Amino acid sequence: MFEFASVSKSTVFDKTEWLSFSPVNGKWIYELYEKDAENGKPMRQAVERLFAMSMEERETIYTAIAHDMKFAEDPANGFQFESIGLEKGAQSVISDFFLYFYNVVLCSAHFALQGLTKDKFGRADFAQEYFSGKNKKIKYICPVCLQTTTNAEREDDIEHYFAKAWIPCLALHPYNLYFICPVCNERYKSMKRVFHDGIIDVRRVFLPYIDTIRDRVKIDFIHEEEKDRISLAPADESETYINEKIDSFNQLFDLENRWSGFMEYYFETRSSLYKSLDFSDIDELKEEMRRDLKKAACLAVNRPETYLETKYLEWIYGSQLKAFYSNMVQKDRNTVVI
Ligand SMILES: [Zn+2]
Repeated sequence: MFEFASVSKSTVFDKTEWLSFSPVNGKWIYELYEKDAENGKPMRQAVERLFAMSMEERETIYTAIAHDMKFAEDPANGFQFESIGLEKGAQSVISDFFLYFYNVVLCSAHFALQGLTKDKFGRADFAQEYFSGKNKKIKYICPVCLQTTTNAEREDDIEHYFAKAWIPCLALHPYNLYFICPVCNERYKSMKRVFHDGIIDVRRVFLPYIDTIRDRVKIDFIHEEEKDRISLAPADESETYINEKIDSFNQLFDLENRWSGFMEYYFETRSSLYKSLDFSDIDELKEEMRRDLKKAACLAVNRPETYLETKYLEWIYGSQLKAFYSNMVQKDRNTVVI
């Protein structure tokens, strides 16, 4: 549509000209445009406002959208979003247009995407596609906090990494949409901005589908007087902007605090498990833990929800074993002193 508007000399949205410009998808888009539905009103008005603009203005809008759509293509080069710098009138055209399609496709109704789907397409179909194939592994788990859900396909929220109110032309961009649990989405990310420090540069943030955070961030466990806590740290300190990326991720989802809360739970349940096995000395505990770790490392590959506890167990095994053992054999748990 925006490409068409940038080359059309017409001051109205002309059906014949449009259908010859876009023979494949033009028909269903025009049908929606023509449809006299209340929710389509802002979109129709946006199209009218667009064609009332000068060719130069339309060209500027199209160039900015086409540019922003490529945000995931080469993030290492310091991509800047252009649509956010457009004047207000242009931004409202983009917003009214794209958010209508987002609402129709993924929120309210179903409609046929000719050439893309055999049948009607909606949120449920999108979710079904998403959780088949390589995303099958996360059907029962939130990819951010690694907590289990009974069925992510039905229960998870579709999240926009870059808010749809801020960059509406990415409202349906596949690299800007992903499924996360309602806790991560509503309680933590909510309306927060990915660029929390105000510096808009994609090199400074993790991008969904592009960055595998698990490979780039290591979990450090820290023992404090009363409890253990975790800290997210770069796997490779020399990686450019890695600290900024971790900061951004942490302020969006508050994972350091949330995951630190689990440490006491892991400690107590592990401690009570090993205590029930009545080891005669620390070496027996060590051997049992070694076997458990071996199994846990294999399990964590397919059951990401066990990843954090496995890392915690590795840390105890590697550097806290004596303290863990002495705590375990005490009748009542007191503060660990290492
Ligand atoms: Zn989550």
